Amino acid sequence: MTRAQLIDGKVIALELRKKIREETAALIKQHDVKPGLAVVLVGEDPASSVYVRNKGIATKKAGMESFTHQLPADTSERDLLQLVAQLNQDASVHGILVQLPLPKQIDTDKVLQAIDPDKDVDGFHPINAGRLMTGQPGHVPCTPKGCVMLAKSVLPDLTGLEAVVVGRSNIVGKPVAQLLLNENCTVTIAHSRTKDLASVIQRADLLIAAVGLPEFIRGDWIKPGACIIDVGINRIDLEDSKTRLVGDVAFNEAVAVAGSITPVPGGVGPMTIAMLLVNTLDAAKRQIR
Ligand code: NDP
Repeated sequence: MTRAQLIDGKVIALELRKKIREETAALIKQHDVKPGLAVVLVGEDPASSVYVRNKGIATKKAGMESFTHQLPADTSERDLLQLVAQLNQDASVHGILVQLPLPKQIDTDKVLQAIDPDKDVDGFHPINAGRLMTGQPGHVPCTPKGCVMLAKSVLPDLTGLEAVVVGRSNIVGKPVAQLLLNENCTVTIAHSRTKDLASVIQRADLLIAAVGLPEFIRGDWIKPGACIIDVGINRIDLEDSKTRLVGDVAFNEAVAVAGSITPVPGGVGPMTIAMLLVNTLDAAKRQIR
C-alpha cells in the first residue's frame, strides 16, 4: 500500500526560525532596532500558560525582546484596555498578542479592536481582516499563514486547485480560505450546516481541516492523492488514563489515500509560533519605515 508523503512542520518551522533569527540580527545591526513582542495572559489556564511560555522562549531564541504580562483572572476589562493602550504607545514593543480565551468579564472583541493594527501580530483586528480580504498589506493570522506554507512545501503552485476548508472561524477557516483564494485556488468553505460533507471533501485536491473534532474526517472521504493539512488539535483519553493528541482527520486511514499529509502533533502546530515571529519581525521593519 502506498503511503502519503509526510509534511514535517517541525523541520519547516525550524528552517523558517533560523531565517528569522538571521534577519533579526541584520535588523539590529543595520537599524539598531530589536523587535519586541509583548504577550498578555489573563488568568492561569494551563494550556494558555504553556503557549505563552513557549512564545516567550521562541521570541528570545530568535534574538527578539520578549515582554510577558501575567494578569490575575479577575482583571477588569478597563485594566486590560489600559495595558493595551500603554503597549500601543511603547516604542520598544512592535507586536502585541493577547492570549485567548479571555475570562468572561472581558469583551474579547473590544480588547482585540483596541490593539494598534500595525502591532496586531495575531492578525485578528478587523482592520487586518479587511486588509486580507481586499489584498492590502497587513498582518495575516499565524495558523492560516502556516497552513499555506506547508501546502506550498509539497505543491509550490496552488493555482487552479480545488481547495476545501472545513471550518469557518475568524482565526483559522475564513483567513485560510482567503489566502487560498489569493493563491488562485477554487475555494469551498464547509461548516456544521454543510450537506453531504463527505462528497464536498471528495472534490478537494487540497483539504484544510479546522473543525475541532477528533479524527472526524475519514479516509474514504478523501480524494486519492490529495494534500491534507490538519489544523485540529484534540486531546483524547486512552484506557490507561493517559491522553493522546489527534487531529481532525483519521490519520491512519487518510495516509493510505492522500498524496501528502501533516501529522498531529508536528504539523501545523510548530508553524503557528514560527509565523508569529515572522509577523513580529515584519511589524518591527514596518515601524522603522
Ligand atoms: P472553532 O470551534 O472556532 O470552529 C470550528 C469550525 O468547525 C466551525 O466553523 C464549525 O462550523 C465547524 N464544524 C463543527 N462541527 C462540524 C461538523 N460536524 N461538520 C463540519 N464542520 C463542523 O475552532 P477553531 O477554528 O478555533 O479551531 C479548529 C481546530 O483547530 C481546533 O481543534 C483547534 O484546537 C485547532 N487549532 C489549532 C491551531 C494550531 O496552532 N495548530 C491554532 C488554532 C486552532 P459552524 O461555524 O457551523 O459552527
